[in-house]
Amino acid sequence: MADVQDVLIVGGGAAGYTAGIFAARDRCRALLLEKFSAGGQVLNCEHITNFPGFPQGVAGYTLGPLLQEQATAAGLQVAMNEVIAVRRDGDLLRVETDGDSHATRTLIVASGSRFATLGVPGEEEFVGRGISHCASCDGSFFMQKPVVVVGGGDAAVDEALHLTQYASSVTVLHRRDRLRACASLQERARSERKLSFRWNAALRAIEGADGVERVQVEDLATGKTATVPASGVFIYAGLTPNTEFLGGLVPLDARGQIVTDLRMRTRVPGVLAAGDVRAESARQLVTSAGDGATAALAAVQYLRDGRWPA
Ligand SMILES: Cc1cc2nc3c(=O)[nH]c(=O)nc-3n(C[C@H](O)[C@H](O)[C@H](O)COP(=O)(O)OP(=O)(O)OC[C@H]3O[C@@H](n4cnc5c(N)ncnc54)[C@H](O)[C@@H]3O)c2cc1C
Repeated sequence: MADVQDVLIVGGGAAGYTAGIFAARDRCRALLLEKFSAGGQVLNCEHITNFPGFPQGVAGYTLGPLLQEQATAAGLQVAMNEVIAVRRDGDLLRVETDGDSHATRTLIVASGSRFATLGVPGEEEFVGRGISHCASCDGSFFMQKPVVVVGGGDAAVDEALHLTQYASSVTVLHRRDRLRACASLQERARSERKLSFRWNAALRAIEGADGVERVQVEDLATGKTATVPASGVFIYAGLTPNTEFLGGLVPLDARGQIVTDLRMRTRVPGVLAAGDVRAESARQLVTSAGDGATAALAAVQYLRDGRWPA
């Protein structure tokens, strides 16, 4: 069949484009479908200092298009389409988009995840101007400034600890009266003098002018609202993997992330996952790129020998 892809990739982030580079270099017929714009979450990263090869750091809006440029130069086809469904079609997989339909021998799901939002005033307005989901990426922008962290799990507390290196104060806002984070993280957090907690605390609004200046916090026990000064707001209210279009095709873990083996293979022959969308991902650009490379190599091997782990 002339229109059958060897490798079809869903998602144009670091994972997807790296998978595309590797698949195309192996002379596979490879197509990447992206619903939004080249780069995925990298476009939210103002200044990336932990991606190898950029000793002075690199802006996300620079790196994103470079990923696409390198992949298309290698021979990857790219189409701007949202994938809305995937189903098995005999030996092939059928990928439906909002305007098209594609058949493929292997599928690499690299659709990333989105941060759960709080739905409070100011949350959309200050994205990139004080609101972040990545302390290791953005913490240094808040040197000697007060920040708040929203959440009470491992991610929130770990990131709050990381932020104490930079911020003048770190206030963790948590809706409950105790943390969900593991005991060792809690112990470290309690002994860190820059870090404090507001229990039964719900973020109600994020306010400022050019950037974030303060937040409004409701005490759920008393119903009273207080103003807390903050230049940065780090939100860890959960991640939502972008897997709805798979419609139950592959097993997911309890968080809805795609379960793979170490070579990025799901239990379904020909279907692989890479980057933030998969379980156990480190959720960094370089690890997502590494996942993409691993997935493409595993897909190529499957195309050659037809073997898939039981
Ligand atoms: C504010 C911020 C700062 C960060 N800073 C850093 C940093 O400094 N260093 C670092 O290493 N990491 C950083 N990260 C994390 C890093 O951006 C991610 O780990 C990485 O981008 C994930 O890559 P990915 O390819 O797995 O997914 P994504 O980048 O999320 O790409 C997935 C793509 O799939 C597309 N997609 C989703 N569903 C569909 C569909 N149905 N059809 C078609 N396309 C679809 C999306 O539009 C998206 O483009 C940061 C993250 C954020 C939010």
